[in-house]
Amino acid sequence: MITVKNKIAKRQNQIYADLHFHSTFSDGKFTPEFLADYLNKNKISVAALTDHDTINGFDEFKKYFQGIAITGVELSTCFRNEDVHILGYGFDPKNEDILFNLNKYQNYRKKRIYTICEKLNGLKIKILPETIFNMVGGDTALGRPHVAQALINAGFVNSMREAFIEYIGYECPAYVPKEKMTLDQAIKLIHNANGIAILAHPGLYKNDYILEEIVTYPIDGIELYHSSNRKNMMSGILNVAEKFNLIVTGGSDFHQLNWQGKNLLGELGIDHDRWIELKNILIEKDTFIAKDIFNK
Ligand code: AMP
Ligand code: FE
Ligand code: FE
Ligand code: ZN
Repeated sequence: MITVKNKIAKRQNQIYADLHFHSTFSDGKFTPEFLADYLNKNKISVAALTDHDTINGFDEFKKYFQGIAITGVELSTCFRNEDVHILGYGFDPKNEDILFNLNKYQNYRKKRIYTICEKLNGLKIKILPETIFNMVGGDTALGRPHVAQALINAGFVNSMREAFIEYIGYECPAYVPKEKMTLDQAIKLIHNANGIAILAHPGLYKNDYILEEIVTYPIDGIELYHSSNRKNMMSGILNVAEKFNLIVTGGSDFHQLNWQGKNLLGELGIDHDRWIELKNILIEKDTFIAKDIFNK
């Protein structure tokens, strides 16, 4: 019989790297320091903080994480009328072009908060943009989850879910679309900063042809291990990756404790063998991190 302790040890041996999670610098509930400590305790050796449209949490994460901290970001793009996410890894965190563009999208996000609040005010829901800005740090990439939190705090709704269903979800009265890059722009931005570009969570998209079409773009890989990729999709994704010579990655996409109060950070990701494959690609593609950390 496998004891609980052995099961945990087994899981920890399997997951070597968690390459997708969020902090308070975007829509995550925990600070980079907390995330780093948690991953240290769980013996995760490689990790990438992938906040939406910002790398402001990277320095703090790197300071506290005892393993290899890879630069990471999750960019929102508009592709075939869908919100397609691209993960960037291993790029230069001081690259001027990427910093300029991330800053630009941060500003768009802030402007969007004003527009959402105006729409809410039109519905007699009085939420001041400043209330939302004061709720989070100045370096935070603002999004609808922050509006949802403000709606909960002010007692207009009881849950995030309710906020999205009643007010800010797609086709709801206070929905405001987000400014997004094109797929080309996102890939170029990451490549120009000496990183690799990965299609995030293919299981989340409504159109199945996204996976078929994405391979005609110069992406480097696909996120295979993600909770939204259903079991029956995994072999299809792997086939595409192998056929087009793409690397596969994975991560928990942790934002906050789940509804059972469980922390799933570090519970999904890639094992040691897949990490070696990824590390080799990072070296082969001459990424910033390869020069910085692996001295290649
Ligand atoms: P934004 O990028 O500002 O449009 O916000 C999108 C984020 O809101 C997603 O990354 C999710 O984390 C969150 N989100 C979207 N739909 C829902 C929902 N129905 N309930 C709770 N969170 C949601
Ligand atoms: Fe998110
Ligand atoms: Fe995403
Ligand atoms: Zn994510």
